[in-house]
Amino acid sequence: MQLKGDYHTHSQYSHGRGNLPKELLEIKEKVERLQAEFPRIKILCGVEANIINHDGDLDVPDDILEELDLVAAGLHLLIIPPDLVTAWRLIIANKLIYRFFPGRREGIRRWNTEMVINAVKRHKIDFITHPGYQLDIDTFALAKACAEEGTYLEINARHGELTRGFVEAASQTEVKFIINSDAHSPEAVGELAPGLKIVRDLKLAPERVINFEGWRRDGR
Ligand SMILES: [Zn+2]
Ligand SMILES: [Zn+2]
Repeated sequence: MQLKGDYHTHSQYSHGRGNLPKELLEIKEKVERLQAEFPRIKILCGVEANIINHDGDLDVPDDILEELDLVAAGLHLLIIPPDLVTAWRLIIANKLIYRFFPGRREGIRRWNTEMVINAVKRHKIDFITHPGYQLDIDTFALAKACAEEGTYLEINARHGELTRGFVEAASQTEVKFIINSDAHSPEAVGELAPGLKIVRDLKLAPERVINFEGWRRDGR
């Protein structure tokens, strides 16, 4: 079966810290222009928002998310933490304590997992990007929450850190998957082969992988 789309690629607007509503209007206009120019490709306008604290807040306001065709969210260590608790628990704990104090790992993992689950429950997120990248999380618990909310889990072709172990644990639930390149350069757009290999190796049913039939929102 053929993959029909790549739903997580970056652009020159990526990692912007500027005026998001203004940028969003610009991006939407550009997408409309490109769509007219390339009618045989469906172009979607979306964002990969950062999950920024334990409550699951995102760094993009909900009213802007509603304007988009596609909302992805993920955990990244390179964010500016909004408060000291997050700075400590997200960055210091994951970078230092996790490494040097194995006895604390379980607690750190639980906190990371809750952070993502809270985001999934509180916002309309289409998919969670690269679960397990940079941070240890309980993918089975996350996948259960995602299945309940109609949020997909990404099989990220760019980050080897998303091992088949994460996908294998998540596949024990009803969650659906989406394979993406997470391209940071034009040449990498559509490079989905490493993700497809995981799907094939684990013999995931095609109906569990959104790319095979093309983009659709799961009841949102
Ligand atoms: Zn990311
Ligand atoms: Zn990305």
